[in-house]
Amino acid sequence: MSFIVAIDGPAGTGKGTIAKLVAKEFGFMNVDTGAMFRCVTLAMIRENIGISQSEKIEKLLNEIKIELKEENGEQVVFLNGEDVTNQIRTPEINSFISDISKIPQVRTKLLELQRKIAQGKNVVMEGRDIGTTVFPNADVKIYLDASSEERARRRVIQNEEKGIVMTYEEVLESVKRRDKEDSERKISPLKKADDAILVDSTNLTIDEVAQKIYSIIKEKM
Ligand code: C5P
Repeated sequence: MSFIVAIDGPAGTGKGTIAKLVAKEFGFMNVDTGAMFRCVTLAMIRENIGISQSEKIEKLLNEIKIELKEENGEQVVFLNGEDVTNQIRTPEINSFISDISKIPQVRTKLLELQRKIAQGKNVVMEGRDIGTTVFPNADVKIYLDASSEERARRRVIQNEEKGIVMTYEEVLESVKRRDKEDSERKISPLKKADDAILVDSTNLTIDEVAQKIYSIIKEKM
């Protein structure tokens, strides 16, 4: 038996933080699918592969090894054995990622990986298409949203903590562009599943969002 909690929504809604809390509260495995798309993006940039070079992309996807591990309560991401946790969260990766996550081969490969990782386990999986495509029969589906201004404000704070210098206006522009690209792509666009529960975190604290989601999960268990 496995219990699946799907959390989808645009960038900066707090999906990562909430998924981590849910995983801890219920003892579930936490799967950050954005980290997987980020690994593919980093690998393609490093190997200088363009989005239309399908043979090279195929080869890269056949050889790529992505691992999500937990060390001291923190998620650590490995790309072909190398710790790339910080390198996958840069403005450069953010600027390329939407184009790379549109590539059908990339989505097929990661979809397979996401389903395999969750097999027989209790998981909370966060991304853009978990409730619509990866696990359309998930036990709980949450669509986490917030205003783009609030999401940009949160991202600016996260960036400062990481030493990334970007103005609020630049971050807002980047957040809006990524949302637009993610929602308008042909395959698996960012979209609320009809049966997902909408949680708007604009005026809520992390703890308030978490409590709301815990009670939704408890009701379904
Ligand atoms: O969640 P995060 O911001 O790390 O996701 C980075 C990008 O990866 C998204 O903007 C989107 O382009 C892509 N992504 C996706 N499908 C998912 C998760 C992420 O297309 N399930």
